[in-house]
Formats: sequence, C-alpha cells, structure tokens
Amino acid sequence: MAQTDLRTNIPDFATGSLAGDGPAPASREAISTGSLPGPERVKQALGDAYRRYRDLDEGKVADYIPSLARVDPSLFGLSVCSVEGLTASVGDVTHEFSIQSISKVFVFALVCQELGHLAVSRRVGVNNTGLPFNSVMAIELADGQPRNPLVNAGAITTTSLVPGSTPDAKWAFIKDGLSRFAGRPLDIDEEVYASEAATNQRNMAIARLLQSYGRLDTDPIETTDVYTKQCSLLLSTEDLAVMAATLADGGVNPVTHQKVVDPSVCRDTLAVMAASGLYEFSGDWLFEVGMPGKSGVSGGIITVAPGKGGLATFSPPLDPAGNSVRGQRAARYVAHAIGLDLFASKPIDA
Ligand code: GLU
Repeated sequence: MAQTDLRTNIPDFATGSLAGDGPAPASREAISTGSLPGPERVKQALGDAYRRYRDLDEGKVADYIPSLARVDPSLFGLSVCSVEGLTASVGDVTHEFSIQSISKVFVFALVCQELGHLAVSRRVGVNNTGLPFNSVMAIELADGQPRNPLVNAGAITTTSLVPGSTPDAKWAFIKDGLSRFAGRPLDIDEEVYASEAATNQRNMAIARLLQSYGRLDTDPIETTDVYTKQCSLLLSTEDLAVMAATLADGGVNPVTHQKVVDPSVCRDTLAVMAASGLYEFSGDWLFEVGMPGKSGVSGGIITVAPGKGGLATFSPPLDPAGNSVRGQRAARYVAHAIGLDLFASKPIDA
C-alpha cells in the first residue's frame, strides 16, 4: 500500500515488508572477512584472464551514443586495487573512456551519505526491474517509481536529490565526489557529452514521465543534463579500480586515505549493485561471479570484493543488455582464481 514519506511528501511505493523497518542494527562483527592473496597471485590471475579472453570476438560496441560507436573494440584492460592501496594491472589500463552508467553507483553513494538509507530506498527503490536500463515501461509498471538507482529513471531521480540549489551546484558536488572516489580530479569528455546531449531525447522523456508522476522535484531537462555530464566523466581502468576499492574499504580511498562515504553507505551501495548492477542479467552475473558489480555502455565493469579490493575491466563490445562481454568473462575468471566469490564456503571440518 502506498504511504507518504513525510520529509518529502512524495508517495512511497516501496512494497517489501523490510523496507519500512529502517537499517539493520549495526554489528561490529557483520563485515566481510579475509584478504586478497599476495600480489604475485593477483598479477598471475589478471595476466591469465587477459590472455584467455583477449581474442574473444563477441558483442557489439554501443552505437546509440554516436561518439561511443567510434571506439576501438580491441581495447582490453584489467586492473585490481586492494584495500591496502596495492594495484596490479594488465592491458590498456591507462586508456581513458567515459564512465557512463558506472557513475550511477557513486552518485547513489554520495546521495545515500546525505539523505540516509531509508529516504533513498523510499524515493528511488532498490529492486531490479528485469527490463532494459532505459525502459519507459518499467516506470509505468511501477506506478511511476523509478525502482532502483542503476536504471536511468532511478539514476536521474538520484541526481535530482544531489545537494545544491542549481544544476551547476549539483554538478560541482558530483564532480568533486567522484574525484574523491578516484583520488584525482576527474574531467568531462566534452565530445561524449556533446554527442549524448544531442541524442538523449529518451532520457529527457523518462525525466518528464517521472515529473508527471510527481517523482521529480527538479527541472527534468536540467536534471537530465547533469546526469548526462556525470556519465561523460573521463577515467581509466586504473581509476575505476581505485573507486571500486573505496567501496570495498568502507568508504575510505585506499590510495589517498581520504574518507569519501561511511561504511554503511558502501554496504547499501554494494547491495544495490548486487541486485541490479548488470542490468537485466544481474542474476546471471551474481550466479557466475558472486560479487556486486556495475557495468556501463562504454565497456567498463567494476567488481567489488568487500574488505578485500576492487577489480575494474574495460572492453567495449557489449552483450544485448549492455554489459562488456570480455569484461564479464575476465571478472569471473579472476574472481574464482583468487577466491573472491562472496557465496563460496567450505564445510568447517573438511
Ligand atoms: N549515459 C548512458 C545513458 O543514459 C548510460 C547508460 C549505461 O551505461 O547503462 O543511456
């Protein structure tokens, strides 16, 4: 039954019985344990995955944003950053590309830090749509609820909740926040931004639809523009590995040692990634890789091993849902080779 969030006056369509109960009681014991194997084994696993999948010739680069269609499909890079700040990389790891959908994770974390667990789960939602990331039908089927922050409707809603009374102030907050996750100042790829801004009528329509349901307090076109900018931030696979490792390290960037968000925010963000990080193939991903992940249509994927580190992969050809084909295979290989799968256990007396 729809209730109303008193702080925002926005109807609350969260239906799960856990949703209204607030965050779980904090426990010092409730953390993922273990550590990455030594650097030699990590490097070996990355090298093996790289050689194994380098020549895999499946998938198609995204072409609905014209500038993404021009990318070299053979680019392939893998990078790990541990919670101690140790990095290992192989392939085209310094090549820069636009972050696209992976930005949704970090903007969600920043907004969660500001508004808290309950407000974001009510305003945006945390359940998978089972439909494409830019689905209009998903919004209609949910009576206007965006469903989760990793589809475009939820990401645009999340961006609308960023602190700041003007689009410029919101953009400055996002740029600064994502730069703190990366540990260096990030900048926009002007060409990708211009290309998407000229062709993002569907995202503007999604924002207008959200507004029509009373789910957006900000101007839909300006908010879509800030969202388009956040998707155009330029970074490398190595940057993404540090960002993923910050989520693995309770919100402290392991390279700069700067606190970006609280541990509870990381935990909430990883839960959302596990449910919806690889679009409508998130179940396949969780079943095969066993960790929270997030992909973007430029070909990046981040995979987070809580308490251990982050893995980032980059390879532009995508599966039909929008996930990098080589990236998924390489992540699965590395996850199993160095024991990252969160669901794996051994009998205690084995
Ligand atoms: N900027 C892209 C869009 O809104 C992001 C999509 C993605 O990476 O999933 O279409």
